[in-house]
Amino acid sequence: MKHREQLDRPSRAVVALLLSFAAGIFAPSARAQQSPQCTVKPASVPLGQTVRLFCDLPSNVPVATARLAAGPNGLTVRLFKQASGEWQGLMPIAVKDSPGTFPIDFLAADGTTLASVTLTIRKTIFPSQNVNLAPQIEALHSTPEEMQTLTTFRDSVSDVKYWDDPLAAPLLGCIISPFGVARLHNGKPTGEFHGGIDQRAAQGTPIRAVAAGVVKIVQPFNVLGGTVAIDHGQGLETMYLHMSKLNVAVGALVKKGDVIGYAGATGRATGPHLHWVVYVNGVPQNPQQWVALKSCTAPKTKS
Ligand SMILES: [Zn+2]
Repeated sequence: MKHREQLDRPSRAVVALLLSFAAGIFAPSARAQQSPQCTVKPASVPLGQTVRLFCDLPSNVPVATARLAAGPNGLTVRLFKQASGEWQGLMPIAVKDSPGTFPIDFLAADGTTLASVTLTIRKTIFPSQNVNLAPQIEALHSTPEEMQTLTTFRDSVSDVKYWDDPLAAPLLGCIISPFGVARLHNGKPTGEFHGGIDQRAAQGTPIRAVAAGVVKIVQPFNVLGGTVAIDHGQGLETMYLHMSKLNVAVGALVKKGDVIGYAGATGRATGPHLHWVVYVNGVPQNPQQWVALKSCTAPKTKS
């Protein structure tokens, strides 16, 4: 056996060399009918963060989606063909997803699997945080109409990509409360986690759109206070809460950095601050993956 292996090794190397040489010669013609090449970045992700999906697909594939087979139902998101010809998509990993290793399957419109890539979801520890609320603040509740408005917003995925990397911070204040912390109100667990981040902001501080997009909601809500929500396209949305004054109209096309409103303490808030949210295909994601922001050295609790 040993003798045979020694004979085989050089011949295998020669074959490999010849194959790579042949691949080099035939690369241009082979590329036109290549099989789909799909990648995910990053390949290992904590809970609450977004995985970017990239695919080179044959030009005869009209529509493509990606399905993450994690959780009870999994999640399917759309891919969008970019000007470069590459297909891209955003796969959100929810705070309540299960850690583990799962396939992301890339699917054609007829359900055929075009490619499959492995994703690792890492175990992620989120701290818990108590917020003391005055009785009249704790008594605030969303109406069914408000809930429906938010659901409609989260469920819409517009085809046009308005946004570009990198996103810009909506204001410069440090982070008072990070994403994902389990929330207690007056010492009682709420069963909810903090679905965005809170940034320190004096009353009246201008709040800017983190990216270009179409304004979908401009409205005072009972719990969320003065709210603006923006659809940035191809699965990315943001929402800004507790504002004292709103500075845009529904349907407006905003640019990155446009002032959309001013910081306040409206709705369920214990003081002026900005709470803002990143939704990726309807799932709240950690804004700190998208925008570099510092934590405050002396954290205070805000809702
Ligand atoms: Zn908040």
